[in-house]
Amino acid sequence: MPFDPSDIMKDRITDIGPPKYDKFFPPVIKENYGKWKYHEILEPGVLVHVSETGAEVYTVRVGAARLLSVDLIRDICDIADKHCDGYVRWTTRNNIEFLVDDKAKLKPLIDELKSRGNWFPIGGTGASVTNVVHTQGWIHCHTPAIDASGIVKAVMDELFEYFGSHKLPAQVRISLACCLNMCGAVHCSDIAILGVHRKPPIIEHERVQNVCEIPLVIAACPTAAIKPKKVGDYKSVEINENRCMFCGNCYTMCPALPLADGEGDGIALWIGGKVSNSRVPPKFSKLAVPYIPNEPPRWPTTVQTIKKMLETYASDAKRYERIGEWIERIGWEKFFEKTGIEFRHEHIDDYRLAMTTWRTTTQFRF
Ligand code: SF4
Ligand code: SF4
Repeated sequence: MPFDPSDIMKDRITDIGPPKYDKFFPPVIKENYGKWKYHEILEPGVLVHVSETGAEVYTVRVGAARLLSVDLIRDICDIADKHCDGYVRWTTRNNIEFLVDDKAKLKPLIDELKSRGNWFPIGGTGASVTNVVHTQGWIHCHTPAIDASGIVKAVMDELFEYFGSHKLPAQVRISLACCLNMCGAVHCSDIAILGVHRKPPIIEHERVQNVCEIPLVIAACPTAAIKPKKVGDYKSVEINENRCMFCGNCYTMCPALPLADGEGDGIALWIGGKVSNSRVPPKFSKLAVPYIPNEPPRWPTTVQTIKKMLETYASDAKRYERIGEWIERIGWEKFFEKTGIEFRHEHIDDYRLAMTTWRTTTQFRF
């Protein structure tokens, strides 16, 4: 039924939820659901799962930019139509997986993907650097301190050899968030790229009372830097700049407090997080580099610093050790020494429970 703007509730369909999850299962998945016995990684990007019925399913994982045109999605559908009976899936890290139910179909699928240059790079399995979980950046959000797609492209270009190989001690999850709202996974990733500001918000006094709920703005501040203030005839706010640490949360609540700044904004790198429970419990990532300037379009300092951290880990860690486990084994002093990253006062936690992060032992390495 065509939408009728003069009667917007007419024929309105609502609360129907997503399609049922198994509606798009390939037949081999549907028939063997809950019956999988084991799996193997045949080569980087290629898996086989074997069912207790003897059925096999071969999966080819390919990288994707996440931000895709409909034209590219149609290309993906064409490949799925040609090789996979029209079935395809996306992973939780926005890679794409093509599944076939017969080993004879595997090589033609791989040949097809390889024939398309770097549009569908095969990899992202096992001890690799798989896709970067990332955010909106300058493409769509109003609160970013950095871009997302641009930095991810620059990083993955430099680390491309690690996407299609298994030469790391364990999998390395890289993620990016363009502000410390941390949409996504930066707080729990092996390496995290985070957009940060370094200047307090500008207060547009004449707008505050018209576009903001002032109590909401005051309550948004984690360091209680904001208080109400009358400025001339305007009901506005005052920010104690000595208490502000540029989180931008007040701007999220109040459009009259912008703080984006070309020179102030930049990147902080975090390291050592994980979400799995294997061997050791999940970990938050911790600050590795407090600030690197935005350097569009290729962000060379950020890219090279990430590469240095990754390759130091790759040459020094034990097999199966995630980055956070490696750092805790060698100690943070050694992490800074081996990577050549400068330890600065910004690394020392000073927020509420900070004391738990300070050293309360005589054990340390010179
Ligand atoms: S991380 Fe921040 S800037 Fe990036 S998409 Fe989320 S809210 Fe927007
Ligand atoms: S930017 Fe953050 S710390 Fe600074 S005033 Fe706003 S909410 Fe408070």
